[in-house]
Amino acid sequence: MLLGAHEGIAGGVSTAFSRAEADGADCLQIFTRNARGWAAKPLEDDEVTRFRGEARRTGKPVAAHSSYLINCAAPDRVIRKKSWEALADELGRCERLGIPALIFHPGSHDDVAEGTKLVAEAMERALDRVPGKAKLLVETTAGQGTSLGWRFEQVAAIRDLVPAGKRRRTAVCVDTCHIHAAGYDITTEDGYEKTIGELDRVVGLSNVRAFHLNDSKKPIGCRVDRHEHIGEGALGLAPFRLLVNDDRFAETPGFVETESRWKENIEVLRGLVRR
Ligand SMILES: [Zn+2]
Ligand SMILES: [Zn+2]
Repeated sequence: MLLGAHEGIAGGVSTAFSRAEADGADCLQIFTRNARGWAAKPLEDDEVTRFRGEARRTGKPVAAHSSYLINCAAPDRVIRKKSWEALADELGRCERLGIPALIFHPGSHDDVAEGTKLVAEAMERALDRVPGKAKLLVETTAGQGTSLGWRFEQVAAIRDLVPAGKRRRTAVCVDTCHIHAAGYDITTEDGYEKTIGELDRVVGLSNVRAFHLNDSKKPIGCRVDRHEHIGEGALGLAPFRLLVNDDRFAETPGFVETESRWKENIEVLRGLVRR
């Protein structure tokens, strides 16, 4: 697995590469805009050029994570429209920057079937508006409140509703903290194999294009999303040892999303790799 972290973009998106280098990362995840507000300044041409230069210089693969405000399943029409438009805007930024993957949370709706349909519609609209190669990656969630995507079946159902021609521009990101909180046990070798087997049957491993590598502050099945440093939470080191040595994910990027200590967390993960 390629190991990296979510890196800051203070001073411009192109600055994330040197942070990734300082953290000893193989790859990096970034926001392409302010993740906590709806308003976003357009990317300047100069910054796009600098970003592409840094990507070439370092050779590090990049993924983008979307704004947390986006809820494509929102029952409220206005929020829903804002959400798919923001998703399209972010997908457009990815195209300009040459980032191949935009990871997003499917959103919340108390009616799973209706919510699923709304997310698929939003994805189709965004993909329609932004032609190109960048993929939308649906992230598995912890299932807090009414959030969708905590069962692999829900993630698969969202992709299935995107028309076939557009579906090839969709994929999946699996978050270790979230699936643990959602009730999937990956802490033992048996549990890990069973979970990855289920992921393969339901989603297809070829559709899993990224991992979020986070330990969990909360116990299995709690449906609460609280990231912990690698090896210091309810997951412990065992599932990460299995993941980083799993040949099926040798080319897949994995990003640490803790609030701090990225370098240290990446070192811990690297220490688990068998030589
Ligand atoms: Zn995540
Ligand atoms: Zn999370």
